[in-house]
Amino acid sequence: MNRITLIEGDGIGPEVVGAAVQVLDASGVPLEWDRRDAGARAAARHGTPLPEETIASIAERRVALKGPTATPAGSGFRSANLTLRERLDLHTGVRPCVALPGAPTRFPETDLVVIRMNHEDLYAGIEVPAGSKGSEQVRAALANAGARPPGADAGLSIKPLSAAAARRTVRTAFAFALSAHRRRVTAVHKATVMRATDGVFLETAREVAAEHPDVRFDDRLVDTMCHDLVARPGEADVLVAPVLYGDLLSDLGAALAGGLGLAPGASFGEECAVFEPVHGTAPRRAGQDRANPLAMIRSGAMLLDHLGEAMAARRLEAAVAAVVAEGVTLTDDMRPHARPAGTEAVAAAVVAALDR
Ligand code: NAD
Repeated sequence: MNRITLIEGDGIGPEVVGAAVQVLDASGVPLEWDRRDAGARAAARHGTPLPEETIASIAERRVALKGPTATPAGSGFRSANLTLRERLDLHTGVRPCVALPGAPTRFPETDLVVIRMNHEDLYAGIEVPAGSKGSEQVRAALANAGARPPGADAGLSIKPLSAAAARRTVRTAFAFALSAHRRRVTAVHKATVMRATDGVFLETAREVAAEHPDVRFDDRLVDTMCHDLVARPGEADVLVAPVLYGDLLSDLGAALAGGLGLAPGASFGEECAVFEPVHGTAPRRAGQDRANPLAMIRSGAMLLDHLGEAMAARRLEAAVAAVVAEGVTLTDDMRPHARPAGTEAVAAAVVAALDR
């Protein structure tokens, strides 16, 4: 029996997680769900968006399926996602962007994977507000070091990037490329401008690439990468990047592949893995049977693969592909001009396709 922590999350979370559980339970793989809270609902219930029991459950089971979570605005709480990634050391995010035949995209050749650092970079949370004592100290330290300090009215978001953190993510990217039989890993950066940080990322990526002569390696400036992705999406394969660029590239990749409603994802550490879609809580769709469950279901297929159930994972992906190719039982984000189906009907269609 595979014991999995299950987090429904907020907004459309409970609906898409419910759909994914229904499909995963129908996959034939024995799964035991341990339901735990995280997000805004957890904050209301437990006084924190990430209760210790939730973290302990994942740490013990090592695998979680998670719906999107919201951070209550103005609450002073830190995002459950950021805290979860830190506490469980989920250092790398993997976001496949693969257009299925029939998906609503003008770029049907899209077949790439964005792999990004989850720690450090501009998301490290090292924020120095303009006019603060900290800002004064940083400006003084920079002046002492002979660097030109920013103006007193400038806020600072500090970008740390270490070789150790970059190495874990780039190694994950090469391991993923090998296991998924992909041809090439491309490091995405702006080392021409940020030598002290992106330069470290690029240098580390080159070192790790030298350990893998069997996988092709190249690198691209992030602006050029964005251009090339739209101009020639079919050429991209595995892209590996620091946090911010990875975040932007994965939303771009999701759009190229047919939209957020189809984009799965996962975060990996050495011990644990959390599977969750790229999309958020889509609050305006919540509770209306209007959420596309396919991103969540595809995240479930990634989970099965991680559990060593590659055959079941492929069957599940094939069932999703069949429902998309049929083009009938789909939510309104995929069928804007025709009569859309609801979340539950899409889940039922995927279950039916599993048996074909
Ligand atoms: P969002 O992904 O929730 O929504 C963006 C757009 O995509 C909206 O138009 C929405 O209707 C649509 N959309 C998203 N998922 C969909 C689905 N499954 N089916 C159909 N349409 C879908 O992004 P947002 O509006 O920027 O964020 C809303 C909330 O979600 C915020 O509180 C944010 O912090 C949170 N969020 C959480 C996660 C996470 O937990 N992993 C990720 C992103 C955003």
